[in-house]
Amino acid sequence: MTATDFDLITLGAGSGGGRASRMAAQMGRKVAVVEESRVGGTCVMRGCVPKKLLVMGAHFAEDFTDALGFGWSIGSFGFDWARLVASKNVELNRLETVYNRILRDNNVTLIEGRGRLADAHTVMVGGQALTAETILIATGGRPSLPDVPGIEFAVTSNEALDLMQLPERMVIVGGGYIAVEFAGIFNALGVKVTQVLRGDTVLRGFDQDVRATLAEEMVRKGIDLRCETVVHSIERTGRMYSVRLSGDETIETDLVLYATGRSPNSAGLGLERVGVALNERGAVVVDEYSRTSVENIWAVGDVTDRINLTPVAIAEAMAFVNTAFGGRPTAMEYDNIPSAVFCMPPIATVGLTEAEARRRHGCVDVYLSRFKPMRNTLSGRDERTMMKLIVERTSDRVLGVHMVGPDAPEIVQGFAVALKCGATKAQFDATIGIHPSAAEEFVTMRNKRPDSVAGEDA
Ligand SMILES: Cc1cc2nc3c(=O)[nH]c(=O)nc-3n(C[C@H](O)[C@H](O)[C@H](O)COP(=O)(O)OP(=O)(O)OC[C@H]3O[C@@H](n4cnc5c(N)ncnc54)[C@H](O)[C@@H]3O)c2cc1C
Repeated sequence: MTATDFDLITLGAGSGGGRASRMAAQMGRKVAVVEESRVGGTCVMRGCVPKKLLVMGAHFAEDFTDALGFGWSIGSFGFDWARLVASKNVELNRLETVYNRILRDNNVTLIEGRGRLADAHTVMVGGQALTAETILIATGGRPSLPDVPGIEFAVTSNEALDLMQLPERMVIVGGGYIAVEFAGIFNALGVKVTQVLRGDTVLRGFDQDVRATLAEEMVRKGIDLRCETVVHSIERTGRMYSVRLSGDETIETDLVLYATGRSPNSAGLGLERVGVALNERGAVVVDEYSRTSVENIWAVGDVTDRINLTPVAIAEAMAFVNTAFGGRPTAMEYDNIPSAVFCMPPIATVGLTEAEARRRHGCVDVYLSRFKPMRNTLSGRDERTMMKLIVERTSDRVLGVHMVGPDAPEIVQGFAVALKCGATKAQFDATIGIHPSAAEEFVTMRNKRPDSVAGEDA
């Protein structure tokens, strides 16, 4: 083909697109990245980062009351939502500046605007046509809303991060990780939260003991969990909303937040026209190297709807750059990807659920421990930690590590390395614990759960 303006044009400067653009430029390629909103993408601007800052802010509500049991007397303490949101936004602006600087320092050309493909080598931004040898689609995803009467009154996670004021009451619809995280934040901040979900309990796809433990703790913390319930309609009366549920019940509330899943951002990009195949959910279909059905067009991250997490988008981006520009074809590995849910208490998990382990490996041994974390002895908080190991009986290999409890994400990250190395239960047992810690429980579990009470995941 004739000379192009760039070696690579990336659509989307989020987790995947940002990393791929920077890495390709570091390898000496001429790169442009097109971004229609803010550099940093969902994770930094509307996802992981702002969400976690709000979780941290909300957690102080428990910390202050727990401190009383440790001898502190606390006078009055108040909370200012507007101040938390403002501080969070200052941090997001700082991060945006950092991500912009990283692109600039690596000679990546940032083009602001919405990009779409005119042909397999041409990207249109506004009226401008830019050409490239290789194109990467990294446009992420967006909240998807069901077709319910009155859905226009609902907000999504995007708006929930920036509410002008805290409502007194809130209905959260959905049972996935974003729904339980927001339920935790707003409940801790004193909002009366009702969570409505279609399934039999929260977090479909997670280990059954994790799901049950979290649901129990959420209810104990005051969240009104309505499982096996669907929303029929939402009506507005003045500043209030009436949410009509199955079972003919109506809940009055001040805010309705829908967190019922996300869809790939693939519409309006000209993909079908140039022959890029999409699946029935609108996700870009790719091979193990993230190449689409068109030779020079690749896609990474949430727009491909594989495992929709930031570190996965970044790893896919790096594998793409190594394959396309580094002369090292690299397929992404999807086994043993750890993940966390920053609900209250938090969850972290790596490897297989018990049900999946039984399906794939037949006989497994399960080690499960529930205990009161040390801090809760003096604080008096009635919250338990749950830890679970799933072990393949014949090989002794640890197949799954699951935890619900304080610091779970910090603890399980290390165990993800052990699983990646194929660690056995005997090696867990031979590891000396760090005492006193909750984490040591993972290397001191000795009693198998009898087979007869084996959990079954949905
Ligand atoms: C509330 C919430 C909480 C989350 N929490 C976590 C978490 O704790 N941990 C975790 O690992 N993941 C979390 N995620 C998921 C994580 O944010 C995504 O997996 C990750 O951002 C995906 O990266 P990406 O590069 O695929 O897309 P994105 O980061 O979404 O980036 C896509 C970019 O493309 C831009 N774009 C779209 N279309 C166009 C176009 N036509 N032209 C130009 N630009 C375009 C968008 O503006 C966006 O900036 C969370 C997500 C949400 C919504």
